[in-house]
Amino acid sequence: MPVPLLDLSRQYAYLKPELDEAVIKVLTHGGFILGPEVTQLEKQVAELCEVPYANGVASGTDALLLALRACGVGPGDEVITTDFSFFATAGVIVRLGATPVFVDIEPESFNIDPEKIEAAITDKTKAIVPVHLFGQVADMDPIMALAQKHNLKVVEDAAQAISSRYKGRPAGSFGDFGCFSFYPTKNLGAGGDGGMIVCRDQDDYELVRIFRNHGAKPKYYHKIVGYNSRLATVQAAMLLVKMKHLQAWSEKRGEHAAAYTEGFAGVSGITTPVVKDYTTFHIYNQYTVRVADRDALKAELQKRKIGFEIYYPVPFQQQECFANLGYKLGDFPNSAKAAAEVIALPIYPELTVEERDEVIAAVNEILA
Ligand SMILES: *Cc1c(COP(=O)(O)O)cnc(C)c1O
Repeated sequence: MPVPLLDLSRQYAYLKPELDEAVIKVLTHGGFILGPEVTQLEKQVAELCEVPYANGVASGTDALLLALRACGVGPGDEVITTDFSFFATAGVIVRLGATPVFVDIEPESFNIDPEKIEAAITDKTKAIVPVHLFGQVADMDPIMALAQKHNLKVVEDAAQAISSRYKGRPAGSFGDFGCFSFYPTKNLGAGGDGGMIVCRDQDDYELVRIFRNHGAKPKYYHKIVGYNSRLATVQAAMLLVKMKHLQAWSEKRGEHAAAYTEGFAGVSGITTPVVKDYTTFHIYNQYTVRVADRDALKAELQKRKIGFEIYYPVPFQQQECFANLGYKLGDFPNSAKAAAEVIALPIYPELTVEERDEVIAAVNEILA
């Protein structure tokens, strides 16, 4: 039985009446950009993150870009981040004219290793960008302590971690800014691009609000040059429908993850995801395992039409566009090893138990 890596049509099948109505409502009222649904969604996401403020923006990438810009990041600054993430995390730093400084990951969580951050701090360091990879929050306590000690800003890349929790607190609520993506494959996915920036400080909130609309305040008066990065109302309308299901969906992902981990317990040569002690709630945006012989597993899964993806095959230290930064393969061994070993298996709320069992049986058979 083929098992797709992700099948969004299954979600639409049961949300159709509500989603259609929500979209038609926007088409009818015509407030297509930053309309009333955007305001409503901002309120709900702020509540979910237990912070007072949220600004809808055009994408998760823009959320990071605008948040870092609001931190004052610019030419000459250094920004510390993980070596192992989606490209956007590092790309936005370069786009602001600043220099990304990479730090190795902890092998278990795939997240930035807080013990290796301090050695990377210089007098040019402006901010730290921890990424909550695959849906598990990075070890925020030591990161925030370092930021305080060295007077650095913290921007959380929580694109894969909406509603996940660390020591009881939600992702995005720790740093100066928390950045979310509504890319369709995220746990809360829109019908296109979208993003959100949450924060605790009113001035930060207002700055981002101005940045997202060309830096204008009031309209047509520009003290600063901003961006066109506004959340489309139709995306917010769809997301409001989906918000009601987010908790149940993430719990369902957790069930699948637990079943996978149990199902792979007897297989040698596979390392299942580690849920850290500090993790209160893991949302499993991805279920990522490590295998020694990944090529063989890939080939066999392909034969059986079982979906998989490699997040991410190339660590930042090895990206061609960062060659000028002078890193070489091996500078961050944990990240390089992860890039060579990881493989993500199908995980989404609508995955059936039969499909899940098929994946478990296939992996057991292949690796036996
Ligand atoms: C998805 C993602 C982004 C970018 O979000 P977009 O909405 O696609 O721009 C940034 N960082 C991480 C870790 C992501 O997974």
